[in-house]
Amino acid sequence: MTKPTTALKQRTIDLLNERGVELAAIADLVIFLQKDYIVGLTAEEALASVQTVLSKREVQNAIITGIQLDIAAEHHTLMEPLQTIVERDEGLYGVDETMALSIVDIYGSIGFTNYGYIDRIKPGILSKLNAHEPGIIHTFLDDLVGAIAAAAAARLAHDDTGEQDTPFK
Ligand code: MG
Repeated sequence: MTKPTTALKQRTIDLLNERGVELAAIADLVIFLQKDYIVGLTAEEALASVQTVLSKREVQNAIITGIQLDIAAEHHTLMEPLQTIVERDEGLYGVDETMALSIVDIYGSIGFTNYGYIDRIKPGILSKLNAHEPGIIHTFLDDLVGAIAAAAAARLAHDDTGEQDTPFK
């Protein structure tokens, strides 16, 4: 049974949409991560897993915080030196990745591997978010979206094994 959508969850989804990220695009990342491991994984199952990840309060908090910082940077309202750092998406900043890590491990350590992998390959929506178009800042959002997909994929991986004990003698 799916949980009812809270106001904060809905606001989180609306913010993602306003920033150009549809949940279906995150579901595509989940399929990209899991297609070789879960036979017959459907877009509906991937989307449902994304929805479940987005039901978690800590995930919602990370997303609304990161998006707020991206928007503030677009409006040039951050303090220096943070304004310049976020605007340039400086590689050594690292707080965007740290924020994303609060999402990555909610379904165990498989999430870390998934996250590292898509962060390097940047498939689908992630390459779009990384395009660094003039006036558009997604310094936090790209990592958060990768993290949602990584956690949703980890959740499916756990479900697929049925959480069974490893047999031993
Ligand atoms: Mg980033």
